Amino acid sequence: MVLVLDTTPDAAVAAPSPAQPSLAGRGDEGLRAALTEIGIPEKQLRMRVEQLWSWLYVRGVTSFDDMTDVSKDIRRRLASAFTLTRPEIVSEQVSADGTRKWLLRLPRLGHEAAAPEIETVYIPESDRGTLCISSQVGCTLTCSFCHTGTQRLVRNLELEEIVGQILVARDRIGDWPGAEPPDDGGMLPIAERKITNIVLMGMGEPLYNFDNVRAAIEVAADGDGLAFSKRRITLSTSGVVPEIPRWGLEAGTMLAISLHAVTDKLRDELVPINRKYPIAELLEACRQYPGLSNARRITFEYVMLKGVNDSLADARALVRLLSGIPSKINLIPFNPWPGSRYECSDWEQIEKFADVVNRAGYASPVRTPRGRDILAACGQLKSESIKLRARDRVAVDGSVEEKPSS
Ligand code: SAH
Ligand code: SF4
Repeated sequence: MVLVLDTTPDAAVAAPSPAQPSLAGRGDEGLRAALTEIGIPEKQLRMRVEQLWSWLYVRGVTSFDDMTDVSKDIRRRLASAFTLTRPEIVSEQVSADGTRKWLLRLPRLGHEAAAPEIETVYIPESDRGTLCISSQVGCTLTCSFCHTGTQRLVRNLELEEIVGQILVARDRIGDWPGAEPPDDGGMLPIAERKITNIVLMGMGEPLYNFDNVRAAIEVAADGDGLAFSKRRITLSTSGVVPEIPRWGLEAGTMLAISLHAVTDKLRDELVPINRKYPIAELLEACRQYPGLSNARRITFEYVMLKGVNDSLADARALVRLLSGIPSKINLIPFNPWPGSRYECSDWEQIEKFADVVNRAGYASPVRTPRGRDILAACGQLKSESIKLRARDRVAVDGSVEEKPSS
């Protein structure tokens, strides 16, 4: 376990909104506005945006001084009005399995009494690295097995704050050209790029922050910048049915659906948005998802809750329900959190359930839990509201225990 930084809650309350806004994470429009503000003439804007874009998103620079093909005068004007600051790292934890979790503090918006905090998680494997990013501070939905769901929604993340999570992660793991990996022994993939995949599976319901998430995906997928293929970006939704076709048309990433139950009765309880958009409507939206094919399947996530949704009859109903939809099934062992009312299914039961799913033609359906020791696994993310603080975490034998502050 590594804790690189630790600041007190009081700092969050006191942190002023920055006088100079940051350009890090901005899209085309935001960069144009910045350049216009420092007096760059209209006819130069396109070329200047391209220059900035490349320094920000190919090189990952954190100082205007490094932008060597930008004139000194423009660099000076930029630096007098803006910064390249990323969301502030409050703490970084590295799990025994190499998973990293960052608690990030965002700049306070005008009306906010305290600076909101979010979590971002990096999951390395031998040949790939997945970054799990948040789309909201907290969540308005209240899925009964999800830790984030117990935190009230504070607000939607801005475009810059969504892209900022990618920048912070690339900074910390040395995933820019010529950068060094951190010297802390944490595992990294052998691949040239250390972050190969992005999943919108952190805090929040991304389709409830549609415009900012879509704009962030446009920045992330731009071939002249961060250059993540949309086939390696997955948005996970609890089932905001009306937004699913729009997301497919306008953003066109891979899609994951938090299904978790095969009957409306149970899904109403586990994923309450089901009362508004029941299973049949959700699956119909999936069938119509633009670009759906055997090569571009929808992932159905199914959390394994002991004695709740894990019978073999449930498994058979699940494969029946999904027949005809090009899909993958992802069985997620339930990740417990302090105060959760469920237990994870027994491993033997998960295997039997997976067998039924396997026999129906779905390969390797069980998601290995990652980063459980630092509460970084699916559904364990939560920041401010129960006041889990870096200073309250105690390292024990390389793992971390959390206790609420008084
Ligand atoms: N709000 C979106 C994305 C964030 S949650 C959604 O619900 O899809 C990412 C995934 O983690 C979802 O499939 C969610 O159902 C699952 N999840 C939530 N809590 C969990 C827990 N305690 N254990 C395992 N998976 C969980
Ligand atoms: Fe929100 Fe997703 Fe958690 Fe449900 S599972 S409470 S939608 S973050």
